Amino acid sequence: MALKYYFTPGPSELYFTVPDHMKTALTEKVASISHRSAQFQKYFKHASEQLRTLLNVPETHHIVFTSSANEIWERILQNGVKEHSFHFVNGAFSKKFYDFGVQLGKSPQKVEVPFGEGFTEEHLAIPANMEMIAVTQNETSAGVSFPVEYLPTLRKNNPDALITVDAVSSVPYPEFDYSTIDSVYFSVQKGMGLPAGLGVWILNDRCVEKATQLKNEGLSVGTYHSIPSLLKKAEVFQTPATPNVLGIYLLGKVVEDMNRRGAAVIRQETNYKAAFMYQALENSPYFEPLVKEKSHRSKTVIVAKCLEKTPAEILEYFAQKKMILGSGYGSHKTEQIRIANFPTHSKESFLMLVDLIEAM
Ligand SMILES: *Cc1c(COP(=O)(O)O)cnc(C)c1O
Repeated sequence: MALKYYFTPGPSELYFTVPDHMKTALTEKVASISHRSAQFQKYFKHASEQLRTLLNVPETHHIVFTSSANEIWERILQNGVKEHSFHFVNGAFSKKFYDFGVQLGKSPQKVEVPFGEGFTEEHLAIPANMEMIAVTQNETSAGVSFPVEYLPTLRKNNPDALITVDAVSSVPYPEFDYSTIDSVYFSVQKGMGLPAGLGVWILNDRCVEKATQLKNEGLSVGTYHSIPSLLKKAEVFQTPATPNVLGIYLLGKVVEDMNRRGAAVIRQETNYKAAFMYQALENSPYFEPLVKEKSHRSKTVIVAKCLEKTPAEILEYFAQKKMILGSGYGSHKTEQIRIANFPTHSKESFLMLVDLIEAM
């Protein structure tokens, strides 16, 4: 490969059509237009319509844009929780969301499992009267996924709680039944293959009602962004603050390209590449998959424990071939590596990776 190719879990390799869309955007001066103009409204509308198709979002759910997924964590807690949120914690991202709850002065609770493990049906029995339940569908630090099949059970057992799903590093792979979810969100620099700096928040009227209730009680539901302010502007295809206009434009274009390929095909290819990679890791004397339980293994972020060679040596070996793999998360970088399997990562690029693993 002539240029570096990024298998890092985020930011990652851009979706392969981004350079062309970026060129068009520069010609059309997308980054200079007013975010109150009809041209911007057209980009907003296009992005949200394309997302509705790709992710199969029903009319019951609204789509709004924020600056990041971190922002959405804060907004969900401000708009959806007076005191009690419940968090499934199995890595750095799910833990950080929980910590935001503590910092905002709420009383979050959690169930926590060791790094590299996932949740089983027994973990679904959670304390009663939670206002919000936070699920991290794909824990990017550990490469563990939360089965979407558990969501209907959570809904049935906790009919009053808002169920919120972090799908930052799995979207567009998971297939959600939105009747069991009040909110799903992601930022765009992982599976969507776009430059960072944009969050997408899908939410229903139950979230709106809760936010209105908290606001009426005199609580702060956010300053420049709150559910009511985001929705009021989204009705006219706008945002309260000046948004990442270029990001919203590119998102619409890339999602349109993904829709041309089709979500089903993207899912199939993701499954194929993941199976291929996990097998290569199992067969190699230099690696083993971190996640032992196969049903908990993420299809989109694959974490491997390094045996015999250090992660630094392994990353260097691939870097010499211009293939940039991800380091282990935080302190785990001394023993693990991570490989992203996003829609932009071609089957051919995975074949090359696996060849290199076999040639080690
Ligand atoms: C990356 C990531 C986030 C944070 O995304 P930002 O865009 O940095 O705010 C949140 N959750 C998960 C699971 C992630 O992988």
